[in-house]
Amino acid sequence: MDYRTYLKKTPDENGYYGPYGGSYIPNELIPGFKEISDAYQSIAHSAQFISELRRIRREYQGRPTPVYHCERLSRKLGLAQIYLKREDLNFTGAHKLNHCMGEGLLAKYMGKKKLIAETGAGQHGVALATAAAYFGLECEIHMGETDIAKQAPNVARMKILGAKIVCVTHGRKALKEAVDSAFESYLNSYKDSIYCIGSALGPHPFPLMVRDFQMVIGEEARSQFLEMTGNLPDHVVAAVGGGSNSIGMFLPFIDDPVEIHGVEPLGRGPADGDHAASMKYGKEGILHGFKSILLQDENGDPLPVYSVASGLDYPSVGPEHAYLRSLGRVSYDCISDEEAIDAFYKLSRYEGIIPALESSHAVAYAMKLAKEIRTGSILVNLSGRGDKDVDYVIENYGYGEDHLFAE
Ligand SMILES: *Cc1c(COP(=O)(O)O)cnc(C)c1O
Repeated sequence: MDYRTYLKKTPDENGYYGPYGGSYIPNELIPGFKEISDAYQSIAHSAQFISELRRIRREYQGRPTPVYHCERLSRKLGLAQIYLKREDLNFTGAHKLNHCMGEGLLAKYMGKKKLIAETGAGQHGVALATAAAYFGLECEIHMGETDIAKQAPNVARMKILGAKIVCVTHGRKALKEAVDSAFESYLNSYKDSIYCIGSALGPHPFPLMVRDFQMVIGEEARSQFLEMTGNLPDHVVAAVGGGSNSIGMFLPFIDDPVEIHGVEPLGRGPADGDHAASMKYGKEGILHGFKSILLQDENGDPLPVYSVASGLDYPSVGPEHAYLRSLGRVSYDCISDEEAIDAFYKLSRYEGIIPALESSHAVAYAMKLAKEIRTGSILVNLSGRGDKDVDYVIENYGYGEDHLFAE
């Protein structure tokens, strides 16, 4: 199936990617989500919307982001060549602004006054608060009390940008409760507001919308790589949390003779609660309004998850990833905390690029693959920069002198 046909047919009109996806929401939420879906299908495909989004990406976000050849790191590993798509250079330091600006623009065209969302580590909250400030919209971010305490710098950023933080104090006081709280607030105000999800997941049309807004990554990277080297890469790699940066990177290569690899966090190991490797250890289930692969207990409740990279610790994965794996088109593998930390230091020391811990998982996988394949090329999506992780890393792992290659 070629790329255009795939995009036209996937998802189907009910938001299904094979058996995955769909929309499992309370009846009261149906009108709101239907309104967003209808608006997206019409407005977001108008020439005016597309050209305004292009201008925002160029003038405000700093796109296109470059593709960079890691010559020094590659030489240390063998003959295979590693390249990075530099989403860390996207404004606000990660790929998340790609879909937040799209969602904000849609809200503006729909005449909405407020953006509502949840956030875990605060990265999505900061990106959405940025979009709200840009478009002159109100912004309401729901966040668990535990996360608010852990993520002080991001909470401060959101407040400076003008967002209102709703502190969620029930249950485990974390991401899952924050989602419930954001849904409830949206339910009570959907005439004036729009809900904005943080990854390529949730009920239809969110996996589709976020994917479409993130595909700018892979579209740029594919033509930049062709121009730079005269060929397509042999391998494409990205880290998978909910699956937005990865789906955006992967799809433009779907019809090419390119091996595609998604990388999930193995955390401290394979025991329940020590990782967030949904594809490896999960099975079919429903969470947050969509069907996908889910880490669950015997009652179908989501298991607790962990990763050193807080942007990757989600117990499920966007439905299109589950589908692409079932087609055999994308393979999924894991990287441990330890391997990710090693890649964090090595990319810093040998290329002068401090990566986000999430992105370090993709870099670690590429380094392993480079040793294995010995020749060929690997294009990695470097989803974000590591400034946010520096304090945590030095406190727990030091400055990395013991992570140098042997001379
Ligand atoms: C949030 C985040 C991720 C994980 O989210 P996806 O939706 O899987 O892309 C990865 N990298 C960075 C830098 C992030 O901020």
